[in-house]
Parts: sequence; structure tokens; C-alpha cells
Amino acid sequence: PPPPPPPPPPPPPPPPFQAEDGIRDHLLGLVGSEMCIRDRHFPADVSSTFIETEDNQRWSYADLECESARLARFLTEAGVEKGERVAVQVEKTPQAVFLYLACLRAGFIYLPLNTAYTESELAYFIENAEPAVVVCRSSSLPAFKQIGADKKVRHFYTLDEDAEHNLLHLSETTEPQFETVACNKDDVAVILYTSGTTGRPKGAMITHGNLAANGLALKDFWGFTQDDVLLHALPIFHIHGLFVACHCVLLSGSKMLFIPRFNADTVIELLPRATVLMGVPTFYTRLLAKPAFTSEVCNNMRLFISGSAPLLEQTFTEFQQRTGQTILERYGMTETGMNTSNPLTGERKAGTVGHPLPGVTARIVDDAGQAVPANTVGNLQVKGDNVFKGYWGMPDKTAEEFTPDGFFKTGDMATLDDDGYIAIVGRGKDMVITGGFNVYPKEIELEIDELDGVIESAVIGIPHPD
Ligand code: AMP
Repeated sequence: PPPPPPPPPPPPPPPPFQAEDGIRDHLLGLVGSEMCIRDRHFPADVSSTFIETEDNQRWSYADLECESARLARFLTEAGVEKGERVAVQVEKTPQAVFLYLACLRAGFIYLPLNTAYTESELAYFIENAEPAVVVCRSSSLPAFKQIGADKKVRHFYTLDEDAEHNLLHLSETTEPQFETVACNKDDVAVILYTSGTTGRPKGAMITHGNLAANGLALKDFWGFTQDDVLLHALPIFHIHGLFVACHCVLLSGSKMLFIPRFNADTVIELLPRATVLMGVPTFYTRLLAKPAFTSEVCNNMRLFISGSAPLLEQTFTEFQQRTGQTILERYGMTETGMNTSNPLTGERKAGTVGHPLPGVTARIVDDAGQAVPANTVGNLQVKGDNVFKGYWGMPDKTAEEFTPDGFFKTGDMATLDDDGYIAIVGRGKDMVITGGFNVYPKEIELEIDELDGVIESAVIGIPHPD
């Protein structure tokens, strides 16, 4: 006989803040949406490590406060104003995290750019977002200067060797104190570009309120404490590495082991010192391909989280067999942050993304907007403080993506099972996800069509275990 069904998951905790609306706006208006609130989130001992790099360099919470203050102050004194955009295309370093936090504290809108973007893509972002500041790698400084020449960019900086433009070098003598600029929860904190099926990429405007609501919900839902050590192997120009990973650490006062990019051997070496890993499914298939990845290596780990792309059931099961640990899969997107998660305690079901997070309402509807019965595929829509404000400079596009009663149309097709677990079954929009990044067939077709002898091409995605 089949085993009895597992007990239903415990009811989720109440949405964050609901009972304390009075202080909510006040809190959200402070200190870059909570990320740097010392009294509430930092460890009592601010000399505790916040970031440790592969070469054993450490930055404490006190360093975070000083470095973010110094950069916020320097840029403010250079004339950058609240609401202006700071476009950033740099390597993954602790200083890049400090720059992000500096922007939150000063009320600048942080605009992270994928390090793989080409010059023509960058030209579009600069034209569309009109940043006042560009911070880039020295190697791309000439290109950015050319792109920004007739635009509104007033300052060009780097975070690396170029002495003349190095922001860290230039701000060295700036006082490391800064009074954080008050922001409302509706003020835009970050713009993140997402590519589209047709037309140009859209800049998703993510507010201070979005960041705080989602960060606090995740920290509690996944049980982060000051004792955690997050192994951070994700890029920091995407919500997964920048928001989900960094905010859980910042809001719990814990620590991260910060490596420039995912490398299975390095991860295996560092796992015995970590308690949490956040990854895309590719991390897990690549770890499983290594015989050195054993249950002993994972002895200190309390949580493996996967997201940004579907985790194959095969990977989920193989991981369980190899390590005795169960990967927790969650689901989110740039426009919404995280929407759903499998539970921390309770059953984690393979092939599902769990339940809506506290504070998030999700529904699955047919094309006429009517709720579909359980186990039936429909369009997934979400609502909550996590959902973004709209696309930068595209009010019509924004209006199209919301229902009249305020739900965001994710574009994902999903089902809800009898136990309330949501499974993502595909994209309504024609998109391929590779290594956690979205690629639209159109983007590749346009490149192929440029080749000599090609008139027209068609690109489709097929599943691949890696
Ligand atoms: P992005 O905006 O780059 O974060 O991509 C968001 C998209 O990734 C979502 O709309 C989904 O299509 C997909 N996605 C994220 N997490 C998952 C997951 N756990 N399972 C399946 N698809 C996912």
C-alpha cells in the first residue's frame, strides 16, 4: 500500500508588519530600507564579520557602516541627488556591496548591470535610465565615456586599478559618517532591467518597501540567525545574489563567505565552514558531478536553497541520496522578488515551489481571469508588498502587466496541488532560462540573422540537466 500522506505543513506565520502598521512606514523610510539598521539587525558586536573573501580578507559590520557612509557622502558631495541613477557594471567584490548600500542610504537609485552586457546593450540602458553616475571596470571606461558623452552622465568612476577614476581611492579622505536620507516605502531603490519577448529590455522599478518586505519575510521564513554563514557564489547584478542572499545576511546580522563566481571545487572546499548555500539548479548538478561532493562535506550545512530556474526532480532526488539533505526550492522574479517557497520545517516537495510567502497572495487563473480548479494549469498572478512599482518610463507596459484588482501577471504557467503546493510548469512568454538567466529566443535569432547567408532563423529551448 502507498505510504500515508505527509501531515499538512504548519500554517505560515502572519505577514510581516501587519499588526504594526503605525511604525511600518517610519521604519521603511529609514536607512536604506532596513538593510543598515544597526539597532535592529546588526550583531551586538559590530566587529563581527559581515564578509569574508577567499583570500581571508574580512570586513565587519562596523566596516560596512563606515564604507557605505564614506561612499554615500562622497557621491552626495559630488552633487548626486536623491532619485538620481547610479549605473554599476563591476566585478563582484565587497566594495561593490558597500556601493549598493551607499546608494540605498543616500536615496540614489542603484542600477546594476550584468558584466556580460555588450556595448550596444549598455548604450540602451544609459539612454533609457539616464544615470548621473557610471561606475564600471577600467577596461570598459572608454566605451562608457563614449556612450555617455552626449547623455546626462556627470561622473565616471571605477572600483579597480584606474587611479584617476577609482572611487575608493578618491573617497579615501572623505569622513566615514553619513546621515541616511529618509525614503518612503514607495521611493525607487533599484532599477533592474529584464529582457523582453519583443521590444527592448524594461527597467523594473523596485522600491525600498519591496526590498524590506521581501528581505524580512525571507529571513524569518528560512530561519536565518546570527550564527549562519552563507556561502555566496552568485553574481550580484541579479536579484538572487544581490537581494535574496545579501539581505538575509544583513537582516540577521550573519556572515557570508564571498566568492567571485561559482566553482564546484571551491564550493566543496568551503561548505564545511558554511550553514546555507543559495544556488541555481546548475550549481547542484555541477556539485553532484564531483565525487568529492559527499555527505561529510555537508555536515555543517542546515539549508540548500534553489531557485531562478526549475530544479529537476532527478537532481532533487540524487542530492537527497548523496547528502541526506533536501534542497528547498523557491520561486521569484525580478519584478516581484520571492513569491513562494517550500517550507523550512515540513515537507519539501520535488517539482514544486511551495506555498506563497507570508505577505504574498498568489492565484492561478484561466485566460478569462477565473480561478482554475486544483491541479489545472493556469496563469500565475501575485500581489503583495514585494511586487514592484512598474517599468521605468513605460506606464502603458506597466498597466498591461497588472489586473484591475492589482495582481501582477507573472507570465508563468502553474498548478496548485491538493496540499496547496504550487508547481511552475512553464512560461506563458517564450523564454529560455540558462544558468538562471533569462534569454529570449528573439535575442539569439537577431544575432544569427546577422550572419552572412542567413535570412531568418528560429530558436527554441530544450531541457538540459545542467
Ligand atoms: P528573473 O526575473 O531573471 O529572476 O527570472 C524569473 C523567472 O525565472 C520566473 O518568471 C520563472 O519563469 C523562473 N523561475 C524562477 N524560479 C523558478 C523556479 N524555482 N522554478 C521554475 N522557474 C523559476
